[in-house]
Amino acid sequence: MNRAVWAYSENETVSNEIASAALDVARAASAEAVVLEIATVRPGIKASGAKLLIKGPESQNSLPEIVAEAIARAAKQLQPAAILIGATRNGREIASRLAAKLNVGCLSEASKLSSDGKSLTSERSVFAGKATAVVNCAFPAIATVRVGYYPKNESTPKATTEIDVGSVPALVKLVSRQPKAVGTVDLKSAKVIVSAGRGVKKKEDLGMLEELAKEMHGALGCSRPLSSDLGWLPEEHHIGLTGITVKPDLYVAVGISGQLQHTAGMKDSKIVAAINTDKEAPIFQASDYGIVGDLYQVVPAIKKALEARR
Ligand SMILES: Cc1cc2nc3c(=O)[nH]c(=O)nc-3n(C[C@H](O)[C@H](O)[C@H](O)COP(=O)(O)OP(=O)(O)OC[C@H]3O[C@@H](n4cnc5c(N)ncnc54)[C@H](O)[C@@H]3O)c2cc1C
Repeated sequence: MNRAVWAYSENETVSNEIASAALDVARAASAEAVVLEIATVRPGIKASGAKLLIKGPESQNSLPEIVAEAIARAAKQLQPAAILIGATRNGREIASRLAAKLNVGCLSEASKLSSDGKSLTSERSVFAGKATAVVNCAFPAIATVRVGYYPKNESTPKATTEIDVGSVPALVKLVSRQPKAVGTVDLKSAKVIVSAGRGVKKKEDLGMLEELAKEMHGALGCSRPLSSDLGWLPEEHHIGLTGITVKPDLYVAVGISGQLQHTAGMKDSKIVAAINTDKEAPIFQASDYGIVGDLYQVVPAIKKALEARR
């Protein structure tokens, strides 16, 4: 086994996050952080150390079974200490296939990764964020790393080495690929999020929160009922256990009760402020600042105060 920690994601943004996770682990384990590329080198992919280009698969966007086989072949030859994979939908499949092929342990949805040089330790949120499990796996180890947890690595890669693992046959054939139509909201990188809950009475009233978000140079998020049940906002706005995880500098929960399934997705925000008519609402327990009041009075008042400061 050599002292390398590999990082991979098929998604560019996530790859740059996993590069930071790999650097943390590599530093702790006195190892080298290496970012993997499959088939081709992508210019937007950052790395603090070197890149390793695995040649063999036809394209970077190969199916998980092909990517897993290619990484497994490279790992059998180069024996990395750990392989970190972004916990995207594809990444989870790649990691589980890889763990089975290499017959090594796999930590899932890892955050706060650390190492003693012999093993990999991570924290993992369990019971909808109600508890944190600390899990450990001896080297060689694999982990899927929580998306959005690590900051993006901005470093220019030092060098690219190559390994040719030969062509990789697949049982499943990719027939076509169509990009999903998505909106323009980028909650993951927003510094301020104003998030709407069922306290908002009508779809049209979301405009008021959108304006507040704009005034604060932020983005509009929501609880699940607003996107999944009412369809007032697209799915990519929905924050929580079954939605996205965010960590803005400021999260303003407006008319959100603060059920565990929601707070699981925003509890790592730096500052949380809540507006709710019910002073017993659980969101106040997860908040740094709280206003007990009617959002229809409080939101326009905040907006007016912000406008007056321009
Ligand atoms: C398996 C599973 C997964 C789930 N995943 C998620 C998830 O990822 N994300 C998520 O958000 N939910 C999720 N849920 C749903 C979750 O359990 C809650 O039902 C949901 O978060 C509640 O949304 P809410 O807070 O907007 O609505 P409610 O719980 O109805 O709360 C509305 C709040 O608005 C307040 N309010 C009412 N009127 C006003 C007013 N005029 N001004 C100010 N405040 C007012 C009320 O006091 C109340 O606290 C999941 C549920 C399940 C079972």
